[in-house]
Amino acid sequence: MTETLPDGVQRREFDGADRLATRGEPVYGEPTDGEWRAWNPDRSKLGAMLELGMDTGLEGGDDETVLYLGAASGTTVSHVADFAGPTYAVEFAARPVRDLLEAAESRPRLFPLLKDARKPETYAHVVESDVDAIVQDVATRGQARVALENRQFLAEDGRLLLAVKARSEDVTKDPGEVFGEVREELEAGYEILESQRLEEYHADHLGIVARPR
Ligand code: SAM
Repeated sequence: MTETLPDGVQRREFDGADRLATRGEPVYGEPTDGEWRAWNPDRSKLGAMLELGMDTGLEGGDDETVLYLGAASGTTVSHVADFAGPTYAVEFAARPVRDLLEAAESRPRLFPLLKDARKPETYAHVVESDVDAIVQDVATRGQARVALENRQFLAEDGRLLLAVKARSEDVTKDPGEVFGEVREELEAGYEILESQRLEEYHADHLGIVARPR
């Protein structure tokens, strides 16, 4: 398998184990080696997508802009801000945003936004248009709708990197059925390039790479 990792993401050894890593201050008690910090795929859907060899299209570097929806306390988005340029981190719960602000202290390109991802008009004046990637991990009903409503921010050749949590849509339904419905709804605004179950790291989650239509 040829791995396509963004610049600024490396495979390194931590305690004898081969792990993905980025350079930055630790955020969630992850192992470090000098300035490198391990990226735990069990704690991060994007980390799992990279571990599984999905082609995210992320290149890394100061010019790459990212809109991250569902940032929580910053576990994953801190790694993104370690390797990418301006990274806008949307999270609507006040409590995790406190930790997110802490993660942003040493990361001048990470911009926490206490906003609801279902209301993109409330942050449209802050987020630059034509971002290179939208990373979405919002554990809420209507995940396809959130992706469609935020498509306006994405560059024509940008990528949506979406983690779908089946149980957030309907706990009673078979995850495969939920994933089928989400994919169908997404097709209204996106072309799906790749999808993979993240089972090895996250139960009942599907990783999707898509581009805007
Ligand atoms: N992406 C995070 C990470 O890997 O570090 C974990 C995200 S957690 C699974 C889902 C987050 O989405 C929660 O913090 C929740 O508050 C947030 N969320 C759910 N609905 C949201 C919405 N409409 N707008 C913004 N955030 C939302």
